[in-house]
Amino acid sequence: MNIYPSASEFLRHRRPERPVLALRPHAAKRAADWFVANFPGRVLYAAKANDAPAILDMLAGAGVRAFDVASLAEIERVARIEDAELYYMNPVKPRGAIARAYREFGVRRFAFDSDDELDKVLQETGGAGDLTLFLRIACPNTHSLIPLEGKYGVSVEDAPALLLRARQCATRLGITFHVGSQAVVPAAFGDALTQVGQLIVSSGVLVDAIDIGGGFPARYPHSDPPGLDCYMDEIVRAADALAVKHSCELLCEPGRALVAESEAVIVRVDARRGNALYINDGAFGSLFDAAFSGFRFPVRCVTPGREVSGTAETDFVLYGPTCDSADYLPGPFVLPDSVGEGDYLEIGQVGAYGRVLANRFNGFGEFDEIVLTDEPMLSMFACPEAAAQRPVRSASL
Ligand SMILES: *Cc1c(COP(=O)(O)O)cnc(C)c1O
Repeated sequence: MNIYPSASEFLRHRRPERPVLALRPHAAKRAADWFVANFPGRVLYAAKANDAPAILDMLAGAGVRAFDVASLAEIERVARIEDAELYYMNPVKPRGAIARAYREFGVRRFAFDSDDELDKVLQETGGAGDLTLFLRIACPNTHSLIPLEGKYGVSVEDAPALLLRARQCATRLGITFHVGSQAVVPAAFGDALTQVGQLIVSSGVLVDAIDIGGGFPARYPHSDPPGLDCYMDEIVRAADALAVKHSCELLCEPGRALVAESEAVIVRVDARRGNALYINDGAFGSLFDAAFSGFRFPVRCVTPGREVSGTAETDFVLYGPTCDSADYLPGPFVLPDSVGEGDYLEIGQVGAYGRVLANRFNGFGEFDEIVLTDEPMLSMFACPEAAAQRPVRSASL
């Protein structure tokens, strides 16, 4: 992959026909370094957010070598990383995938949220005596921009019996939850940990691990969450209140927060109609969340010689290249008035759930790829306070 100092430098050499995924692996490394230094436990990466080899390698190099995976295909992709530890955390798994994960890929950690799934895991691993089993519990997703609730997770009423049963089959037993993606209120984690504490007390079952899932936020024009240090403070406070704090490992599984900043997409404007720009990537490419989840991504004009900023700016809407009218990104996206056909735009913060959601609809969905060494347009990590090493935490977890 070719390396350039910025998108406009790249465009001085090339006029790409296809949209270009611009990787900033240094941003993934910075995020991983921050989590490893500041999370009081083990940091897993949720591979579904972005499984590009360059990103996986950068995270692994920064010390994130444990992965939350949800399918055999993800397991195969991640297993090529040396010493990768795989956590198969999808609460509903095909029988054949459980068996292959256990036998061929050495997976020993599985999530479940029902008696049936627990049976499946036990049967397909031949009643193995070396499993770590995580009970996925339902928890409120009220503080997240992309709620994930309703699909997975055992209810408060049914959790104690299932936990008790699993204690008898698991070598190590854990509890896990997901507060929803882009959780913008740190209390989401504290509340869920409090719920875990109540479950431990009401069931009388001790656990060896608590996996607090993903949901850590990234920065977008429409979402300016508190600093990640506030999340860590909340987690440490809530974890310190648990009865099992001395004997229990804490884990987290960020996807978005580790990789959002690590990719932008460079698109070309193929038409302008009023304040609508027709671009060559969209809802069925790397910009799904702008169409279907109300996301606004940061944008700038990167045509060489026209990187105008400070000139009069206008709110634009964007249309992607397919014939579907759902290929519409309402934004608004703020750009100079003068932007028009032939200009190139950099759309930032698409490293999480960007390339992985792109499909081939209408013959689109192919990208060129480059590496950029400059800074992303927005960051949770680049500001001086965040960059400074925080003091070592006192949490016993
Ligand atoms: C998607 C997912 C994650 C990552 O979520 P983010 O919001 O991207 O941090 C972590 N764990 C599980 C089980 C998931 O399904």
